[in-house]
Amino acid sequence: MTHQIARLIAALATGATAAAALRAGHDDRWLVATAYAAITVMLFAFARHEQQCATAARLAAVHAHRVERLRRPPADPPDMDWCCELWLLTNAAVHTPGCPEEWS
Ligand SMILES: [Zn+2]
Repeated sequence: MTHQIARLIAALATGATAAAALRAGHDDRWLVATAYAAITVMLFAFARHEQQCATAARLAAVHAHRVERLRRPPADPPDMDWCCELWLLTNAAVHTPGCPEEWS
């Protein structure tokens, strides 16, 4: 979340300084335009760095989740020793008429 906010702020600031650089260049204030252009490049580099950090953090979280999931023992298999559908659906209370287990 902090990476996303930082990227958003950096992207907005990059756009603002780029616009300011263009405006200063249009007004023939080349020193100011150069300064704004340099700030724009630095903000763009910062936004790109934040993007790479966010990607690395996301990949690390996915990897940790996979390792944890593989480390867990498998769940016990469900007891599938049932004779008829009604017996299974009624939690072993009632057998379907004609079920071989109905008479035992
Ligand atoms: Zn049955």
